[in-house]
Amino acid sequence: MSERKDFLRTIVEADLKSGKVKEVVTRFPPEPNGFPHIGHAKSIAINFGIARDYNGHCNLRMDDTNPTKEDTKYVQALKDAVEWLGFEWEGNVRYTSDYFSQIHDYAVQLIKMGKAYVDSLPEDEIREYRGTVKEAGKRSKYAERTIEENLDLFERMKKGEFKDGEHILRAKIDMSAANMKLRDPLLYRIRHVEHFRAGNEWAVYPMYDFAHCLSDYIEGVSHSICTLEFENNRDIYNWVLETLELTPPRPYQYEFARLGINYTVMSKRKLLELVDGGQVNGWDDPRLPTIAGYKRRGYTPESILAFCASVGIAKANSMVDVSQLEFCIRDDLNPKVPRVMCVLDPLKVTIVNYEGSEEIDSSYYPHDIPKEGSRKLPFSKNICIERDDFMENPPKDYFRLTPEQSVRLKGAYIITCKEVIKDASGNVVEIKVEYSKESKSGADTSGIKVKSAIHWVDENSAKEVEVRLYDRLYSVEAPEGIEDLNPDSLKVIKTALIEPAVIDEKPDVRFQFERQGYFYGDPVDYTDEKPVFNKIVGLKGSWDKKSKKTETRPKERVKKEQVDGEVVAMSQEQEALFAKYTEELQLNSEVSNTLARDAQLSAFYEEALSLLNSPVSLANIVTNEVARELKQVAVEALKFSVKDITELVKLIDDKTISNKIAKQVFEEMVKSGTNPKQIVKDKGLVQISDPAIIGTIIDEVIAKNPDNVEKFKAGNSKLLGFFVGQVLKATGGKANPQVVNQLVTQKLK
Ligand code: ATP
Ligand code: MG
Repeated sequence: MSERKDFLRTIVEADLKSGKVKEVVTRFPPEPNGFPHIGHAKSIAINFGIARDYNGHCNLRMDDTNPTKEDTKYVQALKDAVEWLGFEWEGNVRYTSDYFSQIHDYAVQLIKMGKAYVDSLPEDEIREYRGTVKEAGKRSKYAERTIEENLDLFERMKKGEFKDGEHILRAKIDMSAANMKLRDPLLYRIRHVEHFRAGNEWAVYPMYDFAHCLSDYIEGVSHSICTLEFENNRDIYNWVLETLELTPPRPYQYEFARLGINYTVMSKRKLLELVDGGQVNGWDDPRLPTIAGYKRRGYTPESILAFCASVGIAKANSMVDVSQLEFCIRDDLNPKVPRVMCVLDPLKVTIVNYEGSEEIDSSYYPHDIPKEGSRKLPFSKNICIERDDFMENPPKDYFRLTPEQSVRLKGAYIITCKEVIKDASGNVVEIKVEYSKESKSGADTSGIKVKSAIHWVDENSAKEVEVRLYDRLYSVEAPEGIEDLNPDSLKVIKTALIEPAVIDEKPDVRFQFERQGYFYGDPVDYTDEKPVFNKIVGLKGSWDKKSKKTETRPKERVKKEQVDGEVVAMSQEQEALFAKYTEELQLNSEVSNTLARDAQLSAFYEEALSLLNSPVSLANIVTNEVARELKQVAVEALKFSVKDITELVKLIDDKTISNKIAKQVFEEMVKSGTNPKQIVKDKGLVQISDPAIIGTIIDEVIAKNPDNVEKFKAGNSKLLGFFVGQVLKATGGKANPQVVNQLVTQKLK
């Protein structure tokens, strides 16, 4: 258990202490419509972790109420994920579909109580009647149906007498409720689709809001833990359970913050697009944030759990830096795995003064790792080193082998370059060196000073292996789509050379390749004849160094105060602001939380709001862009004014620029203090919405990608994203995405 208690455990403990709860029962309730990702790992860790910590139990329940997208292969993937993370569910896997008839009976009961009715308004009228945040809704005339009529209609809906959408069953709650979700929510809809478990038994399917609370009740769940986006659904949850006057005990819902990681997309729908679109190789592609992907890549369950614990459980959504996850896997593997040598890009080295061969005894672990084990390193006059560990004309701070600079072969001798051999085009193909007999590692009496030790393999005994180098799947922090994919996320090296013990002795499945990073024998493709290794992670944050060069400022802040797992209570004043933002202005709870807790930020926001009545767009810019700046400089030192920000939002609201371009404009405002309109004008950033212009670009993209067009026409609809992405790219992000989407769809028909 984590040392600092999170807010959920605080609640659970209080409930146990007060006797409100006798046994802690939780559940992990995924919808089986995709492979679970690391966000699910967080939910698994919370639900199973809490049950374990308080001697309760946790159910694994497939929330299978949407028959169109679900599949048994996803059920299996979910089971695998929970097991791999080291948890056990209570009894059998449960399915909401197993409760369909009970849930149906509860619906009938509500009808009999006059608390539910069959509505037959067309969909658009239902929407219209719902009203708005500011205006109360209006109840359908069908709400006047008698109980007998409702019972009869619902029974016939169930029997399949009506078409999809012809009728729905709604709860009769309150059409003027401030919480829009309470405006007579949908309980059941007609769906003539086969369910992957229930077959064709049902023509009606319960909605999440009705099925979830009742499934929790049926299973005796005590704490129904879900993510923040269900905050407003809690009222329905309670209404259903209270209205039905169920025998206690009943479950209660609590919400925590969703996990978000930069450079990562985390939604089964988006992941499915990548899988179906062929951007990755299946659900377990090591670049995906799926549990199956991490497992295949070589992450350990311990590292994933350590990461979830380090992120903590908060009540406000936040973006976690992916390097935090990378830290966790390094931290886990460092004390565990053997160090071995593998040369990825071999350069032939001949030691001209060495005769014969020997075997050097070499420990698998460095001195500071308390583990035993060693292997024999074959050594002879023919070895290979990494191509970039030799440079003929090195820069000043190059410490490896050069014509003038000797280097140590790790665990062996010091070598000195004597001759560089090149091919006809001037590429170095071999170097001839001399070794110092007295310089053997551990018994060095040579007196030669070197600045570094490099890895190497003996050419004759080394084994050829395939190494798959993975990098981040996306090259931008907040990826929006296919256009943000990192083109270099996978590099395959077919001819790496590894020391023989790794293959022959198999001291482990995970290794540290000296100076390269951590690697894992691919669990699917590895054979003794053709070993394949996946790069799990580099030795240190090489990406951080890479991106620092090109970026002068951090792009997105990681909200440390919230990811630490501690939630500081709000003051009364903050609470009031929070309520105003969520209820009156309809901001989401994450944004409201950020604003309410930061007096400077909320003052900025309020002032902007007094100039421009666009609460949502303003809040987005203020909590993201402005907030980031305020972390760096005082409000007086900002180069832009409140008015400038409202101008920027106006440009977004009237669609002169897209959200993406707005970020670019903002960067410029920060630097130069120029007003946004001027920037847009000067840089020609006006959004292109003209169908004629966009159409021409689409035609070009289509002409350039005949293969993808064919695939699309053959039914691979996921490629739509590819085309949209290409067009957006071609316009430097200036094309209006909606127009592009529409036109691409039209043109590809
Ligand atoms: P997705 O949008 O990826 O499909 P979801 O919320 O629809 O996710 P479900 O399968 O319905 O996924 O969710 C199962 C459980 O996992 C839910 O309780 C959900 O709240 C939780 N969960 C899903 N994504 C995350 C996340 N990113 N962080 C924490 N918990 C998550
Ligand atoms: Mg979902």
